[in-house]
Amino acid sequence: MATTTASLEGTVLEAAAHLYVWALKDIPQDLRDALRAARERETSVVGIRVLETIRRNVEIADEQRNLVCQDTGIAVFYCRVGEHFPLHPVGIQRALEAGTERATVEHPLRSNTVHALTRVHTGANVGYRVPIVHWQFVPGWDGLDVKCVPKGSGSENMSFLKMLVPADGVNGIKRFVLESIVEAGGKPCPPGIVGIGIGGSADYALHLAKEAIARPIGTRNPDPLVAELEDELYGLLNETGIGPMGLGGDVTVLQCHIEHADTHMTLNPVAVNYQCWAARRASAHIAPDGTVDYDREA
Ligand code: SF4
Repeated sequence: MATTTASLEGTVLEAAAHLYVWALKDIPQDLRDALRAARERETSVVGIRVLETIRRNVEIADEQRNLVCQDTGIAVFYCRVGEHFPLHPVGIQRALEAGTERATVEHPLRSNTVHALTRVHTGANVGYRVPIVHWQFVPGWDGLDVKCVPKGSGSENMSFLKMLVPADGVNGIKRFVLESIVEAGGKPCPPGIVGIGIGGSADYALHLAKEAIARPIGTRNPDPLVAELEDELYGLLNETGIGPMGLGGDVTVLQCHIEHADTHMTLNPVAVNYQCWAARRASAHIAPDGTVDYDREA
């Protein structure tokens, strides 16, 4: 049977529902490896106990096919849409919203969304401009990639932006990142991924910082200068002694990722977005004929 746009919208809906639940239950292998390596290098007794508890937490989630954390977060989707993908982005957006809602109702999942001022609950993890969807359009391609990153509030509350001046330079960037993570302390459920956005504009720097936490752990920015800064900050952040859950230790962060953009000659924006140890993400690659290839590691 030929694929219609209606059936393709249904496919994206099913994929979105699956991705949201899957991400919440089954953390990626690179995260499991990073948590294991953290346990091996931690020397503080309390830090080891915290990392052992996290390990057991993940094991129980696997055994019981349950969530790794009660905070189902806010659903964030990253879409890469090919120019020739047969479903219009309006249909994709509608499917992502409906999929988030279906997963929340059918699982069921805790529903977190409220009106920003009244704080009245707005629906099954859906509301005005929620879930959050980011778009990238790819010329000459006919596929769709969807990545779901459920973002917990404990770590999202530890987001920081500073409009440095160009004279602050790279040292100013390093200082701000370190001050931010020290200020965050144990609140974002460390050890996690520190995402840093540098350049662009104020809003774009924050967007880049969020993109940085959604990368597989330990991947490096293709720009060698930026990759060097990732390595340096990763080392410096682990010298803060904040440790697992902020109780002291060698492992404060699992990784430090940076995304950057060129900027105005009189701007130097830097943003920090923290991702907790439960750094959940799951992806699907959808072909124009509706074939879905799920990918936990993208
Ligand atoms: S910050 Fe992460 S680990 Fe902590 S409660 Fe929220 S989702 Fe769970």
